[in-house]
Amino acid sequence: MATHTIIEQPSASPGLLDRQPQLVEPNDERPREPQPPAVPTAPAARRSLFADVMTRLDRAADIVRLDPNIRKILASTENEIVVNFPVKMNGCDVEVFTGYRVQHNDALGPFKGGLRFHPQLDIDEARALAAWMTFKCALVDIPFGGAKGGIQIDPAKYSPTQLERITRRFAYALGDNIGPDYDIPAPDVNTNPQIMAWILDTYLSTLPPHERQRHVHVVTGKPLAAGGSAGRDKATGQGVAFCVERWAQEHRRPLEEATFTVQGFGNVGSWAARLIAGLGARLIAVQDVTGGTRNRNGIDPEDLLRYVSVHGGVARYPGGEFVDDIMFMQTPADIFVPAALENQINATTAAWLNVSVVAEAANGPTTPEADDILKQRGIDVIPDILCNAGGVVVSYFEWLQNKRSEFWDLEEVDFKLRKKMNLAYDRVRDKARELSIDWRTAAYVLALSRLEKIYKERGIFP
Ligand code: GLU
Repeated sequence: MATHTIIEQPSASPGLLDRQPQLVEPNDERPREPQPPAVPTAPAARRSLFADVMTRLDRAADIVRLDPNIRKILASTENEIVVNFPVKMNGCDVEVFTGYRVQHNDALGPFKGGLRFHPQLDIDEARALAAWMTFKCALVDIPFGGAKGGIQIDPAKYSPTQLERITRRFAYALGDNIGPDYDIPAPDVNTNPQIMAWILDTYLSTLPPHERQRHVHVVTGKPLAAGGSAGRDKATGQGVAFCVERWAQEHRRPLEEATFTVQGFGNVGSWAARLIAGLGARLIAVQDVTGGTRNRNGIDPEDLLRYVSVHGGVARYPGGEFVDDIMFMQTPADIFVPAALENQINATTAAWLNVSVVAEAANGPTTPEADDILKQRGIDVIPDILCNAGGVVVSYFEWLQNKRSEFWDLEEVDFKLRKKMNLAYDRVRDKARELSIDWRTAAYVLALSRLEKIYKERGIFP
């Protein structure tokens, strides 16, 4: 096994967190020129994301009177792996990188969750994201636990060959802390099928040749030729689109007459934009780390994607006018799809939103305080652990296909994904109605009940 530190405990896209929202009084009616993206400054002390997850857990645990012992277990992570690994960069210079893998809980099955490459990734963020995976998998009823990790790195600063070496060295450092029936990574922010293929290849290279074929499911989100699943690339965006479609049907809001805005234009944001536009809704504003673009007559997401692939961001897209953070957030629309990083909808920005529903494609885009504001303002929230679960659901399908040496076509994957998403959506809606609670708390209630059941059945060793 590679060198690492294990701290045992009793445990789509570049986003916007790099920039603090520009704090201009939103109710100031004076006309303002759009502001260019703020120059990144030293980040202010970050709030603990894991503490926010626990706030949510506590709210739901109080409602279901969760067994205090199980609450204690879920309030901790199971394993926290921190690896500092050296990589030779240009011939002889070595850079040392820090990688994480936090394994929150495996009561329901092997640890599961993505790896992100982001300069702000730290142990607290990895803990929060790992816990969300536990609740997400429990909610959508797939036999996985929760994990998350990645490397604290800005991948834009490295060449593809450097990134390959960094990725492979990270996979090697993780060693046996991942495994096809133990902990199964997948793509997340700034990682993709190519990166999964490198991890797969590195992992398999450490096994005897006769073992390799039956370990292909050590990662999901692989390229098709390397054992990936049809539909995995768009799966998170597809799940978001299914949720939005169901919400629109239930609220009798024909999508052909609806408008939407998307924050983040990486894998998840760009797929959600294309798929929701495909249902007839009009995309009117998009924001990413470079700034925002807006056109009330509609933005063609395919065209925007082509532009972004050449220019690296949406800010100067000729099909729209440039908008700053506040103008973007204040854009009136029916649906807002946050698909960037955490905490984008906070006590300040929640007051700016002018939409009917927030479909959370990102993990943790809304702070607990913002939840209360959205509730007061009558804005519906399709919570992250439901709305963005499509990715891990199709990861589960990929894992199953690998285990059974099967290949399902796109139609089959989409059919099964829709069924899972709709079922979870309906259960969250029904629970929210039954207990007169918000959807996020309802989603946590369902997840906690499932986890409590398994602990009650199996007991706690010894
Ligand atoms: N990174 C995705 C998520 O946050 C997918 C995880 C997976 O497929 O394991 O849900």
